[in-house]
Amino acid sequence: MKPEILSQIDAAAMLDDVQNWCAINTGTGNLDGLGAQASALADAFRVLPGEVELVDPSPVTGMAADGSEFQIANGQHLVMRVRPTANRRVLFTGHMDTVFPQDHPFQQQTWLEDDVLGGPGVADMKGGIAVILHALKAFEASGRSSTLGYDILINSDEETGSLASSDLIAELARGKLAALTYEPAALPDGTLAHARGGTGNYSITLSGKSAHAGRNPEDGRSALVAAADLILRLKAMEREDITINPAKLEGGGPNNVVPDHAVLRFNIRPKSTEAMERFDSALNNLLSQIESEHEVRAHRHGGVTRPPKPVDAKAQALFDLVKECGAELGQRIGWKSTGGVCDGNNIAACGVPVVDTMGVRGGSIHSADEFLIVPSLEERAALSALVISRLADGALAGDLN
Ligand SMILES: [Zn+2]
Repeated sequence: MKPEILSQIDAAAMLDDVQNWCAINTGTGNLDGLGAQASALADAFRVLPGEVELVDPSPVTGMAADGSEFQIANGQHLVMRVRPTANRRVLFTGHMDTVFPQDHPFQQQTWLEDDVLGGPGVADMKGGIAVILHALKAFEASGRSSTLGYDILINSDEETGSLASSDLIAELARGKLAALTYEPAALPDGTLAHARGGTGNYSITLSGKSAHAGRNPEDGRSALVAAADLILRLKAMEREDITINPAKLEGGGPNNVVPDHAVLRFNIRPKSTEAMERFDSALNNLLSQIESEHEVRAHRHGGVTRPPKPVDAKAQALFDLVKECGAELGQRIGWKSTGGVCDGNNIAACGVPVVDTMGVRGGSIHSADEFLIVPSLEERAALSALVISRLADGALAGDLN
């Protein structure tokens, strides 16, 4: 028996939305494209019974090779609040940016097979945004929506780590019964991503003292030698539950000068919250040691941007609900852990259960072979609509404290 709510889902309209949205370039740094996308999305989402708001990005700084900090520009984020006074409230999140800048060769959509569309963002994740919109349209048309309120966030900087939207994500996650994020399924068969590791990016500036390499090298304090020592000691901090990747070293100069400046960039992948916290305090100790042993100064920029996402009992209950709804629709829903990260990490860090791969089936994301399995638009909208109607009927509410 096909649940009544599903008759409202219009597969052709979903595909139209995806094709229109993917015709706009929204590389994370393309502010004009992101502006055009935000207004197209605002027009589309206004059919839902709430207010659409465009929210300015939080300030974000980067560190240049000379050690100075600079501002990174980001686009506005779309936020919509529906029935904000409802007792049970849910968060839906997606992102409008892609990894393809304006000058990237991959800009066009191509039909790869009868029901497989290639194009930038078709799966990651403008297809997912269409799933949010059309699942909620079906839910609102069902006449059973009054008990459930929700917020929608479509941010503009997910692909660069959501630094300009992480505060907004945390604010919107607060007090929510559950969250659903619309990254594409972890595998083309619809498998969901379960537990995720975290990620952090650091830049360490080392300042020493320059001197003539022949006349008075003993007066110099080499930032480069200190950086080399730091790299080896960082790498030695790897454990079963954390990997550390020294990625780039900048600095140095002519052969006859003791170099006084270096910048080291590295990435960490903690598998648990404990590993993340242990590393952070160990790093401070290590930097103090490097400072005193090499008589240099160390300045630290960056940190963990996506905390690890373990799956606790509350989150597992949400996975189970999605699986149950899938079974009712004849969809077999499984899950597996992954090393990838997304906004689901940030939501889980707020203590809110989240399933973060509710978007379409597709694959080869972040490459010019990205594709969307088109029938999955309707299929995943049906899955979401059913999950949402269960949440409205009181599923998981017993876990609400
Ligand atoms: Zn994505």
